[in-house]
Amino acid sequence: MREKNSNSSISAVSTDGPQILTRDQHPVSRQYISSNALKVLYRLNKSGFDAYLVGGGVRDIMLGLTPKDFDIATNATPEQIKGLFRNCRLIGRRFRLAHIVFGRDVIEVATFRGHHDNPQQAQNCGKTSKQSEHGMLLRDNIYGSIEEDAERRDFTINALYYSIADFKVYDFANGAKDISQRKIRLIGDPETRYREDPVRMLRAIRFATKLDMDISKETEAPIVSSAPLLENIPPARLFEEFLKLFLSGKAVENYTMLRQYALFRYFFPVVEEALVNQSLPYLSPFITQALTNTDDRINNEKRVTPAFLFAAMLWYPIQQQIKALKQTSSLTPQDAFFAAYGEIMGRQQQSIAIPKRFQSVIKDILILQDKLARREGKKAFRTFEHQKFRAGYDFLLLRHQVESAQGCDDLAELVNWWTEFQQRNYDTQQQMVKTLGRSKPGARRSPRKRRRPRTNNSQD
Ligand code: ATP
Ligand code: MG
Repeated sequence: MREKNSNSSISAVSTDGPQILTRDQHPVSRQYISSNALKVLYRLNKSGFDAYLVGGGVRDIMLGLTPKDFDIATNATPEQIKGLFRNCRLIGRRFRLAHIVFGRDVIEVATFRGHHDNPQQAQNCGKTSKQSEHGMLLRDNIYGSIEEDAERRDFTINALYYSIADFKVYDFANGAKDISQRKIRLIGDPETRYREDPVRMLRAIRFATKLDMDISKETEAPIVSSAPLLENIPPARLFEEFLKLFLSGKAVENYTMLRQYALFRYFFPVVEEALVNQSLPYLSPFITQALTNTDDRINNEKRVTPAFLFAAMLWYPIQQQIKALKQTSSLTPQDAFFAAYGEIMGRQQQSIAIPKRFQSVIKDILILQDKLARREGKKAFRTFEHQKFRAGYDFLLLRHQVESAQGCDDLAELVNWWTEFQQRNYDTQQQMVKTLGRSKPGARRSPRKRRRPRTNNSQD
């Protein structure tokens, strides 16, 4: 077995070989493994390759949880894997992986990864391994032994291998102990491991909240000082990480920890700045409430969209920007909105690449805030028919909830009006619109101006 890497003195893969948990010493049973994952494990094994369930699949079963997905590790190369499965797609540049596709279920199969610190290998692997000037791994396609593979994994609890050949669990980094002590511990020297892949800082937090574990002292220590490494992560990857952190039922806890470890700014720099300056009094409670609602919805198996959260993060900063623009220019309210939106969104996109389909929903939710306030004539009906009405209305409710909790009741009439409007029949709705200007402060224009022709500037 190879010498222990001198960099990896804190928690390294054991040089004495793995601890082996026999079938009666661990709870991993085939009944907890999906039939598709079992099929892949068996086919690899029958074809003469080593095949292990690894990562979250083993970890979660050991913790008594239901795994989200099943990852498989093998000594078969991607091409060999492709040769075994007709339903196999090879993907990835940074990590070359095989996806075995069973309808909507995808089983990820990775070839054991090897090391980069072997100079001989480094010379020969111009095409398979690459590091950035910051020490970040841009490509990691050197294949190796199972021991090397274990050492390249992130946390000890993720380096447990369940063998389909003998049903034993092979524990290379004391993961079973850390599972029982509920510790998130990086394998190797934490600073080096964060430099290789700064996303591991985010994963440490995500696993700590998801699994209700503590991050070990050594793993925690370099996070704040290593946080700026996240600037080098491509915005598309940060979007993926954003989804995992904010749309899996633990958003409030993840948000709290991301801020605590100075990581949040790499997702939302504009928001972080406003939070630090305390320049927007509703911003913090608004974000917390939006995240709380998202967690509740997810935990009650209701649908959520990331667009709503982006809208919630950016609403008050955009309002602030509109205010600033109005002070220095004579833009119409609509032009001011679009200018402010463009500016704040432009900055946001430098951190997280928000796919177009979500961008348009974010814009709809924000524009609807203005539309909801304009109810005269046919406007309320048109707004009511808007595809994103429900999200826009929910967003208005949230604004009202947060602002009224701080003593500002400006939105109360508007919220009550829309709540009632949705419950009434068409005749009553028309009546509601007609009586709008008479007594209620929410109508912006007098009924007399109602028939003014629409201009091209209109957001309708
Ligand atoms: P879950 O799927 O429940 O989020 P997981 O641990 O299975 O958790 P995946 O992202 O599916 O996470 O990755 C599978 C395994 O691949 C991990 O358990 C870990 O061993 C390894 N891995 C994933 N990302 C990294 C990384 N950035 N650095 C090192 N190893 C990683
Ligand atoms: Mg997984």
